[in-house]
Amino acid sequence: MSHLWTPWRMAYLRGQEPRPEGCLFCVKPGEEDTTAYIVHRGRLCYVILNRFPYNNGHLMVVPYAHVANIEDLDAETVAELLALTQLSVRVLRQAYQPQGFNLGMNIGEVAGAGVAGHVHLHVVPRWGGDTNYMTIVGQTRVIAEWLDQTYHQLQPLFERLLAD
Ligand SMILES: [Zn+2]
Repeated sequence: MSHLWTPWRMAYLRGQEPRPEGCLFCVKPGEEDTTAYIVHRGRLCYVILNRFPYNNGHLMVVPYAHVANIEDLDAETVAELLALTQLSVRVLRQAYQPQGFNLGMNIGEVAGAGVAGHVHLHVVPRWGGDTNYMTIVGQTRVIAEWLDQTYHQLQPLFERLLAD
């Protein structure tokens, strides 16, 4: 994904954004859904918007358990992780009609994991020439408004598609 130009991630990468004490993915489920941008809570995993997205609608599927490596997750958690990945893809298809997806995990800091101690799966929708739109809104303030908008667009779809 390195070819995506994401200037709004610079504050994050430079360490200018405040980072919470402790593990981000352990802290977030303790917050309100709307402030944490949690779009769906499952039994063993939850789905959250990436605050520093690679693209419009960038989601992450995260187990509640603080586990660093995928091979250490139990089978039930892996099954829900993948089921919620499927649901996320369905939601994003319905909301934004992407032409493709990048799905993946960065395991370990050397592989680019932002939160290396807590395994999570990225769901990034892709369009041909998709960075053009994002570079226009590449400012922190605009990104915050846009995250709210994305949240309110996607959150009800998780409810609806899960009920189907
Ligand atoms: Zn954690």
